[in-house]
Amino acid sequence: MNLALFGPPGSGKGTQSILLRDRAGFSHVSTGDLLRAERKAGTELGHRVADIMKQGDLVPDEIVDELVRKRAAKLLENSTGIVFDGYPRTLAQAQTLEATLRGLNSDLHLAVSLDIEDQELILRLTNRRICEKCKRVYNLISNPPAKTNICDDCKTGLVQRLDDRPEAIAHRLEEYHAQTEPILRYLEDQGKLRRIDADQSIQQVHDRLMRNVRDGRDEVGALS
Ligand code: AMP
Repeated sequence: MNLALFGPPGSGKGTQSILLRDRAGFSHVSTGDLLRAERKAGTELGHRVADIMKQGDLVPDEIVDELVRKRAAKLLENSTGIVFDGYPRTLAQAQTLEATLRGLNSDLHLAVSLDIEDQELILRLTNRRICEKCKRVYNLISNPPAKTNICDDCKTGLVQRLDDRPEAIAHRLEEYHAQTEPILRYLEDQGKLRRIDADQSIQQVHDRLMRNVRDGRDEVGALS
């Protein structure tokens, strides 16, 4: 079963996707991680998207569609399904994703929106630090590392994402409301959307998410 996780920046999509990967056998596709990897490797694509990302704008659809298309077939072969994190972000991307998955005899079966107020997100994002090596996400207030600015798992120094600075945060939230929320209505009309209150602990959100995943897997199993 394939699942798309929605939610504004800071709602916990990355954290929850990694838990689904580690505990429920999903492959994880984060277009944000793929783009940051291109930037870090200094590829031509990385150079093209660096300024766009820094300002909190959306990268053109063709670029992210291609990154996902290149990986989808292989990931479907090697797992029980894909969790899409931060993709799709526009209605056009959502339609391209459906077409890509159907071309692979699969589908986008379930969408879950992690709902949370903007004020809480701003607090979360300004205190977010990430490990660039293992991608673990920390929060300086609610989920700090044991040793200041060092990843508990791989002992690498933690960094703040350039787009987690206040100017970029406001713009990313605007983009989410304007460009991504219309996808939720589209998927709701197809009966695929579930909503979870994301202003809860990581474990509580994970438990709710797993309930939706189990129900979704039962439905997909019953249809096939
Ligand atoms: P994220 O890590 O998902 O918050 O993504 C970080 C940044 O990467 C976003 O603010 C966008 O600039 C870019 N990005 C990631 N995913 C997409 C997407 N599906 N469509 C367009 N831009 C994206």
